[in-house]
Amino acid sequence: MPNKKPAMDFDADWSYSPAPQSSAEVKLRKRYDMFIDGEFRPAESGEFFESINPATEEKLTEVPQAGADDVERAVAAARQAYTGTWSRMAAAERGKFLFRIARMIQERSRELAVMESMDGGKPIREARDIDIPLAAAHFFYYAGWADKLDYAFPGRSAQPTGVAAQIIPWNFPLLMAAWKLAPALAAGNTLVLKPAETTPLTALLLAEIVREAGLPPGVVNIVTGSGETGKILVRHPDVDKIAFTGSTVVGKEIMRALAGSRKRYTLELGGKAAIIIFADAAIDQAVEGIINAIFFNQGHVCCAGSRLFVQESVAAEVLEKLRDRMDTLMVGDPLDKNTDVGAINSREQLERIRAYVAIGQEEGGEVYQSRCSLPDRGFWHAPTLFSNVSQSHRVMQEEIFGPVLAVQTFRTADEVIAKANNTPYGLSGGVWTDKGAKIFKITREIRAGVIWANTFNKFDPSSPFGGYKESGMGREGGLEGLLPYVHLSTPRRR
Ligand code: NDP
Repeated sequence: MPNKKPAMDFDADWSYSPAPQSSAEVKLRKRYDMFIDGEFRPAESGEFFESINPATEEKLTEVPQAGADDVERAVAAARQAYTGTWSRMAAAERGKFLFRIARMIQERSRELAVMESMDGGKPIREARDIDIPLAAAHFFYYAGWADKLDYAFPGRSAQPTGVAAQIIPWNFPLLMAAWKLAPALAAGNTLVLKPAETTPLTALLLAEIVREAGLPPGVVNIVTGSGETGKILVRHPDVDKIAFTGSTVVGKEIMRALAGSRKRYTLELGGKAAIIIFADAAIDQAVEGIINAIFFNQGHVCCAGSRLFVQESVAAEVLEKLRDRMDTLMVGDPLDKNTDVGAINSREQLERIRAYVAIGQEEGGEVYQSRCSLPDRGFWHAPTLFSNVSQSHRVMQEEIFGPVLAVQTFRTADEVIAKANNTPYGLSGGVWTDKGAKIFKITREIRAGVIWANTFNKFDPSSPFGGYKESGMGREGGLEGLLPYVHLSTPRRR
């Protein structure tokens, strides 16, 4: 009997012609300088390091390796700007600067999106439709609060904290910079920001925007460098507040370094979010939600849904549809507008992901990977699904930070709540069900900062974001995101 043609032949029926995004708008320089006291300058040491395109492994440019002298200069500039201008400026004027930055991000959005995609490996579609618009939205949102702090905290007077040291990771470089800068500036603080070593370029473009917007020198300083630069910055005695986003390991190290100091800090760390699919959920939508939860930005997302719990009666159906959908994901050139899953951010991260996949297999997990061909050059990992795993498997417990999902089944709501809470993390989660009562039960009983219902990875500047347990402390976004940047006092009554 002749072979029966499958109902859907994804290789033939779902092929798209390439739709490359032009990179002509990005004029990369051979070298970049960092931004201190309103000026672009190299490191005191004269050292530079390379930033490469993870999709091609080609060198994009060089950026300065900031050392202790540079950090010293940046913090001094921030202090000077804090006492001299920014904290004294009328709040409405501060707000105008933020509005200006927001609009300039919009004006240069194409350039920013392409640069983000080239420097970090994320699909241009995500950089263009999510990262850059959300970054502008954060500036718009906090611009609005700048002269309304008395309404934000009624009956209390809000004073700025001082100089903030802000350290951001490589998964959402410009967006994380916006999350950090916008509330700090709106509340009257000055700052020194350190972008991640593998993705410094959009932060340096933001520095150009800041300068063009006319902010007084020293209000925003951007130092580029390695983890060592971050370490020096965190420990600087004239810094009042630390805002860190990154790994739990470094977050703990920062906590230890700050113990006993008067410095304030917020830590936004790792996660191992649960995605819970009840039998009464709209299954096709739930499958789409799972795809978004774990494969968005190659799974380089602190709130990624990396643990899937499916109610037993629909597990076979969900997994079959999920595998089919994984096969349709387009993995490859981040600058192709069709691409769903781009490049892994660095060789180091790729090796970490591969090591976890090997561990999962050694521990008895069963692997399914998308049937996709990966480019020869660059850092790539096929979307991966682990089944036949238990709660104690490391792929079920540890943050992988890549396109790797592990699945288990459950029978009752109480069982899945216990399983979902069995993690050192508590950043996010998602539940799919037709029943409002189940949504309330799950969201009440799962200990996580954000839980989405029938959707995932939805962000808005007005919505606070942050974790419990080893996922960190403090909130970013919304009114709560202003709190770490203000001292609140109660005005004396006459
Ligand atoms: P890190 O936590 O090391 O990096 C985050 C930021 O902190 C970067 O700017 C980094 O600089 C800086 N940094 C590194 N060490 C120190 C230090 N001792 N003191 C102050 N700042 C420091 O994350 P990695 O890039 O090494 O990624 C490792 C793992 O962390 C990933 O596999 C993933 O699991 C997790 N991760 C989680 C993130 C999240 O949002 N939850 C974000 C990023 C990573 P530099 O880049 O120059 O090293």
